[in-house]
Amino acid sequence: MSIERAMDILRKYPLCDHCLGRLFARLGTGLSNEERGKAIKDYLLMRIHERILSEGLSDELLNDIKALAMSGHEPSIKFLSNMGINASPAKCYVCGGIIFNRLDEWAITIANSLRSLGIEFRSFRLGSKVPLDILNRELSITTEFSISSAESIKREINRELGKRVSAILGVPFSREDPDVEAVIDVSTGSVEVQVMPIYVSARYRKVHRLINREGQGRWPIDKVVQAYGARDVIIHAGGEDPVGVRVLGNGRPVILQVVKPAKRPDINDVYPLLRDSNYDVVLDNLSRVRASAVDKMKARVRDYVITYRVLAITANSITDGSIKSLHDYFRNRQVVQLFRRGRRVRRRVSMVYELDGRVVGDRLVEFLIRCQGNLYIRGFVHGGYGNVEPSIAGTLGFSVRPVEVDILNISD
Ligand SMILES: [Zn+2]
Repeated sequence: MSIERAMDILRKYPLCDHCLGRLFARLGTGLSNEERGKAIKDYLLMRIHERILSEGLSDELLNDIKALAMSGHEPSIKFLSNMGINASPAKCYVCGGIIFNRLDEWAITIANSLRSLGIEFRSFRLGSKVPLDILNRELSITTEFSISSAESIKREINRELGKRVSAILGVPFSREDPDVEAVIDVSTGSVEVQVMPIYVSARYRKVHRLINREGQGRWPIDKVVQAYGARDVIIHAGGEDPVGVRVLGNGRPVILQVVKPAKRPDINDVYPLLRDSNYDVVLDNLSRVRASAVDKMKARVRDYVITYRVLAITANSITDGSIKSLHDYFRNRQVVQLFRRGRRVRRRVSMVYELDGRVVGDRLVEFLIRCQGNLYIRGFVHGGYGNVEPSIAGTLGFSVRPVEVDILNISD
C-alpha cells in the first residue's frame, strides 16, 4: 500500500491522525499511529505545495488541501486561511473524534478501579469494548482500499491505555498472564475489573484409606484459601481415584484454581500452611502454571501409566504357578470394558502392561498391576460383571474380590 493512496482515502473520508496512521501501521516503526498519521498529512501537503509552485493552483489541488483541512490537519487549515479560505475540520469518519482525546481520563478511571479492588497485583491486562459501528466503518475502509497494513482500533486503544495505566500504577502490562484485568466500554467510559485466578499445579497423595461416602477425603483447601486470601479454590485433578483407594508414591497431578486471590504469596510460603495432619490429602511439588495447563493435564489423563497394588480374596486357593501364567498372559494385553447406559453401550480399551502377584495367605493374593490410566481397576480384577474382558477372575475361572486398592505410582 503506497502512501499516495492516503490522499485517495482522505478525499472520501476525513480521518483523524490516529485513524489514518493506523491504516499504515506497518510503515515507520517507532512512530505512534498519531505521529504517523500526522506525518503522512504533512507529506501530502508538501507534495501539493510543490505542485502548486510548479503548475499553479488548480481546483484539484485546492480540493485536496480542503480534504486535508477537513481531516483536522492544522498546517492545511492555516494554508487555506492564508488564502482567505475558512475551513473547519469534520468529525473523524471512523472514531468520530470521541475516543483518543479521552485516553488520559480513562486511564485514571481504570487505574482507580484497579486500585479499588484492594488487592495485591503485579501485572494487569486491558481490554476494550468498541461500538460495532466504529468497527464496521474501520472495516469498510480497509476493504474498500484493499489495505493489509492496518492495525485494529481496539489494539491501539488497548496499547495506548495500557501505557498510561502502567505509568500511573507502576505495574507492567501483561497480555498472557496478568493478575488482574480491566475492560473499558468506550461508549460509556465504564470500567469492569476482575481478579484473575491463580493456577497452582501440585501432586497429591491420599495417605489414609478413606471410607467416607465421597471417598475424596479432606483436602487442605481452607489453608490454600487462607494463604491466598481467596474466595474459593477449584480442584482440577488429573483423573479420578476409585473410592477407598490410597494414592501413594509420587501422587496424582492436580491443578488448584485459586479464585479471586487477594494475596500473591511466594509458593514456598504456602507449603508450611499445608503441613497439617488433620487432612487426608497431602499436597506436594507446588508450582505456578498458566490456565492452559488444566486442559493440557486433562488431555493426558488417559495415557497415564498407573501402578496399582490390589489385595484380593479368591474363591479358590491360588498357586504361584497360576500367578506366573497371569503374569505371562497379561503382558501388554488389551482390556476392553463395556459401559452400559440404557441401550447404549460404550467401549473403552485400556492397556495392561504388566501384572505381578504373590500369595499372601490362603485365598489371599496381592497383585501389582501396571496399566493405562483409564483402566477400571476393580472391574479388571473381578470381571466387572461380565463387562471387562479379559479380567483376572475371568482368566482364573473363579471369583476374585478386591479388598484393598492403592495407587503406588503415576507416570504422567
Ligand atoms: Zn479517528
